[in-house]
Formats: sequence, structure tokens, C-alpha cells
Amino acid sequence: MSSSQAITSLTLTSLPKLSTGKVRDLFALDDSSLLFTATDRISAYDVVLANGVPGKGLILTQISAHWFAVLEQKVPGLKHHLISLTPPASAPLTPEERALLRGRTMVCRRLKVFPIEAIVRGYITGSAWSEYTAKGTVHGIPQPPGLQLCSPFPNGPIYTPSTKAPAGEKDENISPEQAVSIVGEKYAARIQELSLAVYSAAAAYALERGIIVADTKFEFALDEATDEVVLVDEVLTPDSSRFWNAAEWKAGSEAPSYDKQYVRDYLTSSGLKGKPNVELPASVVDETAAKYRDVFQRLTGKSLEQALAALE
Ligand code: ATP
Ligand code: MG
Repeated sequence: MSSSQAITSLTLTSLPKLSTGKVRDLFALDDSSLLFTATDRISAYDVVLANGVPGKGLILTQISAHWFAVLEQKVPGLKHHLISLTPPASAPLTPEERALLRGRTMVCRRLKVFPIEAIVRGYITGSAWSEYTAKGTVHGIPQPPGLQLCSPFPNGPIYTPSTKAPAGEKDENISPEQAVSIVGEKYAARIQELSLAVYSAAAAYALERGIIVADTKFEFALDEATDEVVLVDEVLTPDSSRFWNAAEWKAGSEAPSYDKQYVRDYLTSSGLKGKPNVELPASVVDETAAKYRDVFQRLTGKSLEQALAALE
């Protein structure tokens, strides 16, 4: 993978771009569907880095697709946005564009995304650990004394929503009451219920494969026709989750991770945290690519090449 080029921007001649996120470019397919396309861009601390990680967009897409298939079996009543991994033959794409998109795009339902980030934490680390050591709480919820770094929450996973800040701004933690005021009582309750159900199903599935899902972030949208809350965006990827190697995990110290923590640690230790236009050294790019591939294989039981070969 390191020998190939990172794809950091995408334009399609005949499909309008709906939006450019930190990692994804969304293209309108028609009024009800879009191409949800992952580039190889990587962001850390809310800043997009100057260079990408070759093949990362393929991994994010294939991992999300795997999870949608697993979760629709495991979580009764769950609806998600994935329609297909291959753009329809009728889509106005050149053969070159189809080749570029192959494996990194999902045909998805085009929905109105709720403006909150649905975060679930099973283990105490990161900002939750900082809050706990300072105040004895996590997301304002009192926790028992004596918890160790990276230990599971004693009363089970907790839901800690945040705002979905516009580009350039930082997401802020919100209380359940604030979540209700942003999305309404009915949808806030359903988002919380689905978040915890999806996290629990995914954490059990991953643990059977030697991976701890320490925490993760979901996004949901509303299907206005049926009034159903739908799981959208990427799911349970190394960009949206902390994944730890269960064999090496122990409470009291940071476990080796298969996610962006490696990049965050590099940026922090080199004094580059939050700076614009940072170019990652080739060794950090290669190591990150290897971690993403490794977790893909562990979770899905397939290599990336096998997953790509299975596409139509
Ligand atoms: P931001 O949108 O703030 O830039 P981000 O950097 O995480 O967030 P990306 O992951 O790069 O964004 O892009 C994905 C975008 O697509 C997110 O804004 C997400 O809310 C949106 N999205 C996900 N699923 C759907 C869907 N089914 N319909 C419409 N928009 C969606
Ligand atoms: Mg995103």
C-alpha cells in the first residue's frame, strides 16, 4: 500500500459534489441517494494533515460495510443508510472514475443528519480519563473512586453525546437535556438507545476477534417518510473508534491501539498538535496504514484485497 499514491481529493465530471468533510467527499446521485466516498485524507485533533495514508479510504469503506452487514443481523430493528457498494450502471461515471471510486464509495440514502455526535464509551481513556482524574466524573456523571486508566466502566458503557461543530470549531460535550433541546425528546431517546445497542453488539463481536472497542462515535439521521432513526456515516472504523489489542490490554496503562492514536502521539511528541499543513513522515504513514490494515483483517477475517475482489 505504501508504494501507491494517496487519493486526497476527488472530482467527478458529471456528479455534483454535495460536501467535502475532513475525510469524505459526498456526491449527489439523485434526489434520494448519494455517493459517500472516502478519500485517503487523515485528520487528527480536527485538522486535516497535508498528506494522506494510501488505501485508508478503502479500509474505512470496507470496514463500515462489514459492520452494516453484521449489525443488521445483531441489532433488531436497526436501519442504516448503505444501499450498495457499487454505483449503478446508470450513474454518469467514466470508466476511470468508476475505477477510482471502486472500494471507497458507498451508495447511501441521502438523509438529514441529526447535528449531534453519538459517542459511547466502554473504557475510560482520553478526555474521559482527564475529566475523571480532575473531577471524579465522566461527562458530568459521578464515577466510583479508584478507577484505573483504560478500565471498563463498572456500570457498563456510557453514552456521552457532543455537538457536531461546523468545520474549524471544536465539538462540545452536551448533557442529555441539551441533546433533547437539539434533536427533540423522542429522537434523543432513540439515538441513545440505538447507540448503546450498536456499541454493545459491536464490542462483543470485536472482542471475539481479539479487539476491544474502547469507545466510538456514531451519527444518525431521520428517515422523514417513516419517522425512523437511521444509522449513517462511517461506523466502527479506526477513524471513529479506539480499537485496542485485547491480548495486550491491561488496566492501568495505555493499550496498543489500531487507530489514529499513533498519529496523535506523533503530533503531540513533535509539538505539531493542531498545526495546519503538517506533513506526516513516510514512516508514520506506513505504520498507520499497517495498523488500519491489521484491524481490518482481524475484524472481518479477510484481507483488503479479498474484500475488494468480492465487489462486483
Ligand atoms: P464534517 O461534516 O463536520 O466535516 P467530518 O469531518 O467527520 O465532519 P466526513 O466524515 O469527512 O466529515 O464526511 C462525512 C459527512 O457526511 C458528515 O458531515 C456526515 O454527517 C455526512 N453524512 C453521513 N451520512 C450521510 C447521509 N446518509 N446523508 C447525508 N449526509 C451524510
Ligand atoms: Mg466523519
